[in-house]
Amino acid sequence: MKEDCISIHIVLLGTQLHLSTIKKLYTYHSDLFRIKSTSSIATLPETDLSCWSYSKKVISSLLEESKYDADITIAIIENRIEGNYFTRRLSDKNLVLTFYEAETILRDANIDLFNYLLITIYKTITIYRFSNNVLSEDSSKFVHDETRSCIFDMLGNKYDLVYSTSNACLCQQCEAYSEKIDLPFNYITTLKKELKKIRKTRYTRLTDFIKQKPIISLIITAIFSVILNVLSCYIFELLFK
Ligand SMILES: [Zn+2]
Repeated sequence: MKEDCISIHIVLLGTQLHLSTIKKLYTYHSDLFRIKSTSSIATLPETDLSCWSYSKKVISSLLEESKYDADITIAIIENRIEGNYFTRRLSDKNLVLTFYEAETILRDANIDLFNYLLITIYKTITIYRFSNNVLSEDSSKFVHDETRSCIFDMLGNKYDLVYSTSNACLCQQCEAYSEKIDLPFNYITTLKKELKKIRKTRYTRLTDFIKQKPIISLIITAIFSVILNVLSCYIFELLFK
């Protein structure tokens, strides 16, 4: 484990419908962050905003009750949060993340929800590094409106989440910006290397290809069937004649 690895505490807020996805974080290896500890707050108050949303104030008050011994605390909730964002900064070291709508968007696009957790964490720790080891109040300045498959995509259209979760990267502009900042040795190189692994699984890439190009898939299947047939006849001839 590297010394400058950022430690993260996870707080599970209320009933969690995606525990198996969250648990994958505990065995995930990164040279940039580690999950140090977890805790949970089982019972939540009633929502205080319209559309059954929780305000930043209510979520912050839940976290204030305990002090977590980690660089960053990420609270995970299933409900809609204020402003209908995917994540919201709560303080210099606290952030809340919701699965609300992310789960549906990614399920429809055949993308593992775990990728969403990963890109959120990489974005959060990079903001933390960019802002001299805090989640600064003006961290939105790092985000760009244009969708580039980058962890700093604004996601004004929430459906654009599919790009960064299936082909995560740090875009050229964000990389150029990072060069002006004093970061730990090799931070950006390691970040880019780890982001490259956030892709769709081979199986889902294959099923996507079949859905998008059914005729080509059919032709490939037919060609392989003929080749297999010829091969099996040849092997039969060799063995039994
Ligand atoms: Zn970018």
